[in-house]
Amino acid sequence: MSKITYTIEERDQRLAELSSTKRNFLIENLKRGKKTAFANVLAHQKSKGIQDEASLEEIERTMEWELLDIVDSGYVNPETPCECGRSLRYQYIVQNQNTNQIKKFGIVHFEEHVGFPPHIIKAIKLGFTAIDYELDELLNKISCGDYGYEEIEYFPQDFDVPLDILNHKDNEIPLLQRQRERLKRVRQQFEQHSLKKRFEKRPHGGLLQFQEKRTQNTLPFSKSTYKAKLNPNITNWTQETYADYSIILIQSGITSVNEICEILVAEYGANSQRYSTGRYAIFSDILLSLSPFFSSGNLTKTIEPGMRDVRVYFKDDI
Ligand SMILES: [Zn+2]
Repeated sequence: MSKITYTIEERDQRLAELSSTKRNFLIENLKRGKKTAFANVLAHQKSKGIQDEASLEEIERTMEWELLDIVDSGYVNPETPCECGRSLRYQYIVQNQNTNQIKKFGIVHFEEHVGFPPHIIKAIKLGFTAIDYELDELLNKISCGDYGYEEIEYFPQDFDVPLDILNHKDNEIPLLQRQRERLKRVRQQFEQHSLKKRFEKRPHGGLLQFQEKRTQNTLPFSKSTYKAKLNPNITNWTQETYADYSIILIQSGITSVNEICEILVAEYGANSQRYSTGRYAIFSDILLSLSPFFSSGNLTKTIEPGMRDVRVYFKDDI
């Protein structure tokens, strides 16, 4: 996949079109990313230096610096000068942690004014460029409406969704490609784990039992037949009961998760709480309870645009 990159003018233009909340998030995110890149290069340099036992003193001196801030004046501004007096738009501010000495400079004079070895400067600049590219990726994804939240919807509330990913979602910022890949990995691990747990809990092996039930019912039965199969007096909803009830409903030809929610709430007294979007709170519980069957390939799903609904099918019914 080729990277989308913008010129400074294009970036400014796109940032200006956003709400102030989104813009501030992206700018703060950019600064945080660059501070981390700066610290990472120095830390890496230190560990490498110790291995090589090369010029440890020089490396220690380099390590003492921290990137405090990057000021964007919006234009080349004499109020934000370089150490040498040159006016800057982007002013980098670093501080020596031992002496508290502060230096302010433009990226072009980084080497002249701070005195880091050229290879460290080069690594830091590469790190900064990677962070700029991530900003471009986010700006491009915002303009395409490609937010990538679908994968988060299935997580249970107690699941540890990585904080940076939640942070993006809370601020209505798209997920980066690298975040999406990480989420996919974490989710696969989680589903494998819950499938394993489900097997362990059921004495006769839950999935086998389920497959037998399925072959006994190869003819799809009409919608009303679920009534004969489901106990109406259920008081305690767990992941297992959500899965068991949902599977009977799916076998009865009900494929919409919204419809499953409505039936479980109206006829079986499941939690009727809804979010402001109108979606039942049990929507994600149901999907989660079925996740082992998605992983094992017994069930498959299609997601309607904007996650308005999810339809669930037996794999051989498609
Ligand atoms: Zn200068």
